Amino acid sequence: MSTSFLWITSKIKKLIEKVKTKLIKVKSKSIFTKSGLGVKWSINQYVGCDHTCLYCYAKFIKKWRPANYGKWGTWVEAKINAPELVKDKYVNGWVYMSSISDPYQAIEKRLKLTRKVLESMDKRIKLIVQTKSDLVLRDIDLFKEFKNIEIGLTVNSFSGKAKKLFEPFVSTSRQRIKALQILKKNKFKTYVFVSPIIPELIDLKDIIKRTKKFVDYYWFEFINLRGAGKKFAETLKKEFPASYKMVIDKNEFKEFVKECKQIINSQNIKVRGIEIH
Ligand code: SF4
Repeated sequence: MSTSFLWITSKIKKLIEKVKTKLIKVKSKSIFTKSGLGVKWSINQYVGCDHTCLYCYAKFIKKWRPANYGKWGTWVEAKINAPELVKDKYVNGWVYMSSISDPYQAIEKRLKLTRKVLESMDKRIKLIVQTKSDLVLRDIDLFKEFKNIEIGLTVNSFSGKAKKLFEPFVSTSRQRIKALQILKKNKFKTYVFVSPIIPELIDLKDIIKRTKKFVDYYWFEFINLRGAGKKFAETLKKEFPASYKMVIDKNEFKEFVKECKQIINSQNIKVRGIEIH
């Protein structure tokens, strides 16, 4: 492949990214917020996410944003003063990055806001970084400066039609597993967040088999149809009717959860949590 062809391809990719996402730069008053996610704090330098996963549970945020922002997934608010806000600010307890966005979404490639936040952050802070993108590998040098850090990748094994429909813009499972492998080689504590678990579409045994060597623990989360929203429910019903039927039937879903728990318990892995909504 010629250099000029690669150059044009990368330019086109950047252009598409620019057109796709509306960037809204804001200044925030504070950056660490109390969290109800099993950790003390969360930090979101971005609000909104251009990964545009169809099931995204964070889309409830849009009701607190102006209507002219547009549809969830088409805009990203960047707290451009986030690096200043974290500077010289120590918080006690684990900090989760990020709960309503992905710190390594596409826009981060050019904005480098997450990187700047990590640069400015007090390295004594206990940090959990979670993402669906292998862009996380870019910041390994900064992660090494933290004394307590855990890095997690969401792995759900969606492929083919499910990947295209549910999370078209994120790294593939293979890329995410490769990222975990590299993070582990660099001696970081790593985990896999298996989510959203959907009957017929997720192979728990396979995910565990492919990741076990590179991760310290697992978190599991079953699909939350209400949180995922109407469009996701309609798509699941239309494209994967058997899965949909199992999700909406209380008894079938209960049985599915039971079977999954049996699989999880038989795998000799450390489990941090199993979320059932
Ligand atoms: S990566 Fe997370 S925050 Fe971003 S769109 Fe997907 S589910 Fe939502």
